[in-house]
Order: sequence, then structure tokens, then C-alpha cells
Amino acid sequence: MSLEELYQDLILDHFKNPRNKGPLKEPTASCSLLNPLCGDEIEVNIKDQDNSLPEIKFSGKGCAISQASASMMTELCAGRSREEVLRLCETFRKLMRGEIEPEEAEELQDVLALEGVRKFAPRVKCAVLAWEALEKCLKGQGEV
Ligand code: ZN
Repeated sequence: MSLEELYQDLILDHFKNPRNKGPLKEPTASCSLLNPLCGDEIEVNIKDQDNSLPEIKFSGKGCAISQASASMMTELCAGRSREEVLRLCETFRKLMRGEIEPEEAEELQDVLALEGVRKFAPRVKCAVLAWEALEKCLKGQGEV
């Protein structure tokens, strides 16, 4: 199996079996974003406590890239400190914009599977949508 196929399987798996999808009780922040180009909708809810994120959940609908990216993001970021999560968001954005190479973004782990999306410029927005919503939650630009 090529790396590309492995990545495809990972994306499809997260799309079909999303992790941390559904409502979150008493979130401390919430943010919904739309990607009108593709019709993706993502709502991210977080519970923020003692400077870490014990819980991150999302809900939404849209293409496989947008939904898989949200699912992978919740797995990578849950339980980490705010600073760490903000840094991961920044790393992911730089990767998707082509400002850094995958070798410089190893902390993203499985999320690196989305790196192939860079070849399809209009889909980059799909991939970053959930991350932008999470960043807004952390920066106090969400609702609640
Ligand atoms: Zn999309």
C-alpha cells in the first residue's frame, strides 16, 4: 500500500467513523463556521479548564475532507494546553498554505494525512475550517 493510499484510508475512516462528534454539555466556548465554496458546516465546542482542553467536540456536515479534518483535530488536540493547541492550529495552517513541509510538521501526527489536499487549492478551505473554528473558540471569538 502506498503512503497516499494509507492516507486516503485514514481520511475515509475519520469521515465514516468521526471521533468526538456530537453535542458537548456545558461548553465554555462554541464557534460555527461555513465554507460556502463547498457547503461545509462545522461547529466546534470546547470545554476549557485549568488552562487545558479536557474536551473538544464538533458537529457538522459537508465533504469528507472537512469532516475528517475536524475529527482528526479533536483527537490530536483534546487534553492539551491552550498554548499547545494554538501552536498546532498555526502549524496546520502553515502546512496547508505550503509555508512549511510535512517534515516540519510531524507534531501533527495523523493529521498529516491531509497534506495531499494542498494540491487542490479550493479544498484547502475545507481542511482548515474546523481549525479556524477551534482557534476562534480559544481566542474568545466564539459564542457562549
Ligand atoms: Zn469541503
